[in-house]
Amino acid sequence: MIDNSIISLSEKSIENNISFLRSKLGDTVKISAVVKANAYGHGIEQIVPVFEKYGIDHYSVFYYSEAIRVYNCLHKSSSIMVMGWLSEKDIKDAIEKEIEFFVFNMERLQLAVKYAKELGVKAKIHLETETGMNRSGLNMNELNTAIAVIKENTDHIELTGFCTHLAGAESVSNHFRIQNQLQKYQEMTTELDANNLKPKYKHVANSAASFVYPDTRMDLVRVGIMLYGFWSSTEVFIQYINHQEDRIDPLKRILGWKSQIMAVKEIKSGEFVGYGISYLAQSNIKTALVPVGYSFGYSRSLSNKGRVLIHGHQCSVIGVVNMNMMIIDVTHVENVKVGDEVVLIGKQDKLEIKVSAFSEISDELNYEILAHLSESITRRVIN
Ligand SMILES: *Cc1c(COP(=O)(O)O)cnc(C)c1O
Repeated sequence: MIDNSIISLSEKSIENNISFLRSKLGDTVKISAVVKANAYGHGIEQIVPVFEKYGIDHYSVFYYSEAIRVYNCLHKSSSIMVMGWLSEKDIKDAIEKEIEFFVFNMERLQLAVKYAKELGVKAKIHLETETGMNRSGLNMNELNTAIAVIKENTDHIELTGFCTHLAGAESVSNHFRIQNQLQKYQEMTTELDANNLKPKYKHVANSAASFVYPDTRMDLVRVGIMLYGFWSSTEVFIQYINHQEDRIDPLKRILGWKSQIMAVKEIKSGEFVGYGISYLAQSNIKTALVPVGYSFGYSRSLSNKGRVLIHGHQCSVIGVVNMNMMIIDVTHVENVKVGDEVVLIGKQDKLEIKVSAFSEISDELNYEILAHLSESITRRVIN
C-alpha cells in the first residue's frame, strides 16, 4: 500500500443507501450488490463486509477473480454471481465453490454440464437472453437448444436465474428500445414456462431500471451505482425527486479521497509551472505540490481544471496532472504548510468536491471515475 492518499468509506452512508433501497424495492425483491470493478473503485475487501453486516447476501461481479475476492472476504453464506468472464478452468472451480455464473452461449453451457458431471456438483447457472442489447445472450433458437440440454441434465444443472440486461434504462431516449426488450424477455419467459423450467430468480434490472420501470424488479435487482450513493443519471434522479415532497437526495455518497501537501513554493510572475507551457504564472503565486496523479485515477483531463479543498477553500489544479503529482494554486490560502490536508473527493468544512464535478469537467461518467481509482490507494471504513 502506498500512503500518499487515503480513501475513506462511510459505514453510515452504506447503511443509509441499503435501507433506502430496501424500503423502495420492497421485501420480496432480492438485492444483488454489484461489486465489479473493485466495488466501483470503493474496494471489494472493505465494502463487502459492511454490505454483509447490513444484510446483503447476494453479490454480482464481472470477472471470476473478483468472485474469488468476494468469496474470500465473506463471513456468512451468500450467493456470488459472475456476469462476465470465466476461463474453462474457472468454470470448474466455480461449480465446486457453488459460485453462480451467466450462461450466454452453448459453449459455456456444455462446459458447465461437463464439469458438473465430473465433480458430481450441480452447476448454478443464470441463462442470459439476447433481447436487443446485442452484446451477450442466447437468442430464441439458442434458448430452445439450451432448454433441451438443461432438461436432459437436471441432475447437473440448476437453473438459478433467467435474465437479460437492458440497454440504457437511465435515459428516456432508450424507452422504445427497452419496451421491446421487455416484450422479448416475456416471450422467452413463456418458452421457459412451456417447458416447465422454473428459475429461482428472474432478473433484468440494474439501478436505473428498478426505479424508472418498477415492473422490471421481478425477483432480483442487480444494483451497483445506487449502493454507492449515486443516481445512474440526472434524469433518473429528477424523475424520482419530482415525486417527493422534500426534494432531498435520499442517497449518500460513501467515498472520500484525501491527500496532503508535500511541498509549498513561491513562483514569480512570468514563470511556467510544471511540464511544458501549459501554465504561465501571471502574477506572483504560491503553489502546493500534492503526491497524487493520474496513475492513481486522478485524470489527466483535469489538468488546469480540477479543484481540491485546502483549509476549507476551493483551489485549482494548475498545469498538467502528472503520473504521481499535481500542482495546486494556493495563493489565496493563508498559512499553507507541508502536511496540510488536501481533499480530492468529499467534504472539508462547508465545501464539497463531488465526483459529478469531476465528470462535468472531464466528460467521464461517475462510473468511469470511480472505476479508475487505483487499487493501491489505502482504503478505510469510517463511521
Ligand atoms: C454493472 C451491471 C449492473 C449494475 O448497474 P448499475 O447501473 O450500477 O446499477 C447490472 N447488471 C449488469 C449486467 C451489469 O453489468
